[in-house]
Amino acid sequence: MNGPVNLERTADGNVRPVCEFCGRKGRAVAPDERGRVSLWSLGNGWSCAPYPVEFVHHDGSTGTLYQCPACVRRLRGGESLRSRAYAAPEQPVGVPAALGGDLGT
Ligand SMILES: [Zn+2]
Repeated sequence: MNGPVNLERTADGNVRPVCEFCGRKGRAVAPDERGRVSLWSLGNGWSCAPYPVEFVHHDGSTGTLYQCPACVRRLRGGESLRSRAYAAPEQPVGVPAALGGDLGT
């Protein structure tokens, strides 16, 4: 799949949240009845902005937005983060691409 996504589906049918700012991925969990990562199964420190599954954001991604613990900390510290910084390399990006790693399970 091309373009930004808020959820990544694993081969075994689970879903994992993708940080809207840095692209970091959370742990894979069993999806809720609508195919999302439920609030209760989000990893420690993760946050989310709930949207309907059908909602299409201006960048083409759909549904609920997720924020990883590192970005949540930066936001709370007063930084203004640009959504999808990892997906828009044509503009200056303050966050190294290496941060788009995998938290593991
Ligand atoms: Zn992040």
